[in-house]
Amino acid sequence: MIKKQIIDNIKINSKEILSKFPKIELHRHLEGTMPIETLFYLSQKNKLNYPDNIEDFSRQIQFPKDEKPDFLLFLSKFKNNWYKSYEDIEKVCIDSIKSLEKESIFYIELRFSPEHYCLENNFDRIEVTKLIINSCNKAAKEIGLNIKYLITFNRGKQNQKEMIELYNKIIKSNIPDIVGIDLAGDEINFPPKDFSLFFNNVYNDGIYKATIHAGEVTPPSSIWEAIMLCYASRIGHGVAAIHDINLQKFLKEKQIGLEQCITSNRQTGSWPDEKTHPCAKLIENGVPVTINTDDPVIQNSDLTDDYLKLINYFSFDFTKLVEINKIAINCSFLSENEKIELLKRYQKKVAEFEKKYLQS
Ligand SMILES: [Zn+2]
Repeated sequence: MIKKQIIDNIKINSKEILSKFPKIELHRHLEGTMPIETLFYLSQKNKLNYPDNIEDFSRQIQFPKDEKPDFLLFLSKFKNNWYKSYEDIEKVCIDSIKSLEKESIFYIELRFSPEHYCLENNFDRIEVTKLIINSCNKAAKEIGLNIKYLITFNRGKQNQKEMIELYNKIIKSNIPDIVGIDLAGDEINFPPKDFSLFFNNVYNDGIYKATIHAGEVTPPSSIWEAIMLCYASRIGHGVAAIHDINLQKFLKEKQIGLEQCITSNRQTGSWPDEKTHPCAKLIENGVPVTINTDDPVIQNSDLTDDYLKLINYFSFDFTKLVEINKIAINCSFLSENEKIELLKRYQKKVAEFEKKYLQS
């Protein structure tokens, strides 16, 4: 009866209540989190070639809500030309982090690509990395957000040698709060095996864990490759795992988490029908699945929207939502002690939410 009441409570007025539910997020790109208003401000300030009213501007920047899935259209929405100074980068960091408050993100492993900010500028990649982490940390402290970072390497824009060089510089610089390395970009033309030397270095150094975008628009073999040849501890998207039962057993046994993103997967064509997204079946089969946004501003959505889809399409209730967040803590790149500590604080936060929003 109480459980029913809780489900009903979530279903009624769901977006408002769900937006207050504390969430753990492991797959979100800073480059896809920058608020539209901030990008519009930079466009005006730096005299960029975009529309000068915010409605037309948004239409150009975001993936159209009812547009049919299109991987290339989705990727074309990412631009590198917003930033003309370190101050611009600092501003997008602060505004992006503050925007997470309305989604009640409790802990995030935010990823960013130093290359993205430096491609069109003569910025130093290490300086930019430090600047992003410092700025985000400052804003995170203000809103009480727990945050760590993943450094994204882009398989289409950096070759393996360049990746190793940047990675070595990052290690030498002793930058705090980085917990992992991510491989993103065009997974069709640049399979994980092309980067195995780089990821062998990462694994042997033992400083950071690895997550690799795989099985998003490629078959299960690319997920196997990411794990076996590149020692990935998590997989970005990995929707193709639904086609390989042995892979699912392996992911379950080794506790290798899938970072799934229902809205993003539709827009890119990775899984065009949200109502049949494989996340629920994979969870049922015991695969550690986490739910994430990917690039919410480009997608014109947020993490609460993805949680709503779990409720509306897969009958998730409060207990199941808490459960996937516990799985996310377990799949995080924190140390075992840090995970225990985070779990305790998360449970306290959930109890506060339950008392305040569900039992009143
Ligand atoms: Zn991604």
